[in-house]
This record gives sequence, C-alpha cells and structure tokens, in this order.
Amino acid sequence: MRSALSTLEVVRPKSLKQALEALARPAANERLVPLAGGTDLFVYLNAGAFEGRHFLDVWGLRELRGIRVGKSAVTLGALSTFREIREHPVMRRRFPSLVAAAAEIGAWQIQNRATLAGNIANASPAGDSLPVLIAHDAVIHARSVRGARDIPFAQLYRGYRDLMLERDELITAVTLPYAPARSVAFFRKVGTRRAQSISKVVFSGLIALDRQGSVTHVRLGYGSVAPVTLRARRAEKALLGAAPSRRSLEAAREALDRDIAPIDDIRSDRAYRLTIAGNVLEQFLRGAHPGFVGSN
Ligand SMILES: Cc1cc2nc3c(=O)[nH]c(=O)nc-3n(C[C@H](O)[C@H](O)[C@H](O)COP(=O)(O)OP(=O)(O)OC[C@H]3O[C@@H](n4cnc5c(N)ncnc54)[C@H](O)[C@@H]3O)c2cc1C
Repeated sequence: MRSALSTLEVVRPKSLKQALEALARPAANERLVPLAGGTDLFVYLNAGAFEGRHFLDVWGLRELRGIRVGKSAVTLGALSTFREIREHPVMRRRFPSLVAAAAEIGAWQIQNRATLAGNIANASPAGDSLPVLIAHDAVIHARSVRGARDIPFAQLYRGYRDLMLERDELITAVTLPYAPARSVAFFRKVGTRRAQSISKVVFSGLIALDRQGSVTHVRLGYGSVAPVTLRARRAEKALLGAAPSRRSLEAAREALDRDIAPIDDIRSDRAYRLTIAGNVLEQFLRGAHPGFVGSN
C-alpha cells in the first residue's frame, strides 16, 4: 500500500551541523532517514515498500554541494547530481567513465535530482555509478557528531544492501584520485534497451601500461553480478605485470568466472550474465591495447 504523505515527518536542517545533531537524536526511537534527491526513496514510498516515517531532507545543505578540483584528485560533494557530473569540464576530461555512467542513469529528469551519495547509499548491486567508483579507487567521506572518517569505496558494502555506515552518519563527499598516466578508462552498461533500463551487467575498467608495454595498474568493477558491486580481483591479477596478449585476456576471462556470482532474476539469468561480463571485459581490453587482439 502507498505511504500517505501526511503520515511522514520531514526535518529540514539549515546546516550540516544541525543535520548531524538531528541524526544523532532518533525521532520517536526511529532513525531519521537521509533524503537527498528522493529518486529511490519516493519510489519505495509510492510502492509502500518503505517503513521509515521520519526523514532528514539534506537537499538544501550547501556543505554537501560542489565539485572541488585538486592537484591529485577531485572531490564531489554528496549532493552532486548526475547532471552536474555529466556537464563538469574536468569530470569530462579526467573521469569520462563516470560521465558515461551519469549519462545512462535514468533520463534528464532523474539526472537533475539523483545524487552520487544517493546511488551509493541506496546500495543496489545494479547502481550504475558504483563500478566506476571501484575502478577509480574512490574514497567515501562520512561524518557524524562523533567525527569524520574515510572509507575506501571497495570496502563499503558488507553484503546485500548492507553498507558500513552507522545510523548517525552522513556521506559528505567522495574523492576520486586522478588515474595513472597512460591509462584507459571504460564504462559499459548492458540492459534490456539503450535507455531507462536497470542493468543486467554494468562494468567499468581502468588499465595503465608502462613504456615497455606491461600492465602496471588495472581495476575491474562489476555490478549486477553478485550481491554487491565488486572488484574482480582474480581477473585483475591475471592481467597485472603481463604484456597484453590474447592469452592474458583469456586467463582474465577465466578468472572472472570465479570473481562473480550472478543469479537468475526477472531481468536476466546467470548464464547470460557470465557471458556478458566476459564480453564487456574483452571489449574493454581489446579497445585499450592492440596486444589483446593478437593471436597468442
Ligand atoms: C525512473 C528512474 C530511473 C532510474 N534509473 C537509474 C539508472 O539507470 N541507474 C541507477 O543506478 N539508478 C537509477 N535510478 C535510481 C536512483 O535515481 C539513483 O540510485 C540515485 O542516485 C539516488 O539518488 P537520490 O539522491 O535520489 O537518493 P534518495 O532517494 O534521496 O536516497 C537513496 C538512499 O540514499 C540515502 N542517502 C542519500 N543521501 C545520503 C547521504 N548523503 N548520506 C547517507 N545516506 C544518504 C537515503 O537515505 C536512501 O537510503 C532510477 C530511479 C528512477 C526513479
């Protein structure tokens, strides 16, 4: 049953300090649920699939806004919308795979409201920005009245929709270090159709080679193939340190089958997801270096 709006309480803090204080004092013993763009929460409320009645509307908090460009990294405020990410000139130049993911999240109406922190905290294994955050070694900044802490994004999820964030903590920002020199970034979402679909498989890769032609850095982030968005570490290991070759690509594909654990569900099935996860890896590697196309 739909949640009647009149039964909901929304707290609108004027500052981050006020927001954190409100989060630290549960309303009627019930946790205040952070509300950002509302593009996930309103869907759950409309479907009657959300029990929370007390919300903390963070949309107006200036401290959570803005994209700050530094010498070695960019820091995105928690409320950065996918539209802002798509349109930011430094993001377009330095993080084309996050820009590509942003452009495939819903349509413009959703991208105007949907925030990066909302995508992270919603913790769907199909969240489209999440594999890119893995590929770029993102760091999540969280704050509560008890202080601030940084969590490497690859360690954020403990299990299905279970993230390492305390009930009184807010995500305040996300830092993305610049990719190593001579790296190639990639993003690919595979859904039922080109737009407005939930991913069957979503992938982001980052690879760098030295002047001698060996792989010096590789990150492979996958969504929709396990209970959480994950880093395909076995496949990365098969590539790291070797010269690009058809053989190393095949070893990575084989290792990938042990990294991921896709399931059958209404959007797709396990066998399809395994094949597609390997195919997008192959597409990425072949595009990144001609050695991966070779005959051995
Ligand atoms: C039509 C439609 C299409 C969509 N298409 C896609 C798609 O293609 N790809 C995709 O990945 N997603 C998609 N989504 C889902 C949604 O838009 C994204 O997950 C979005 O990033 C959520 O951000 P939000 O700000 O709206 O989050 P909200 O709905 O406000 O919140 C989501 C969750 O995050 C928590 N939260 C928000 N901000 C913070 C914070 N600062 N600190 C701690 N917790 C916080 C909330 O408590 C809640 O649990 C779609 C949704 C709709 C309605």
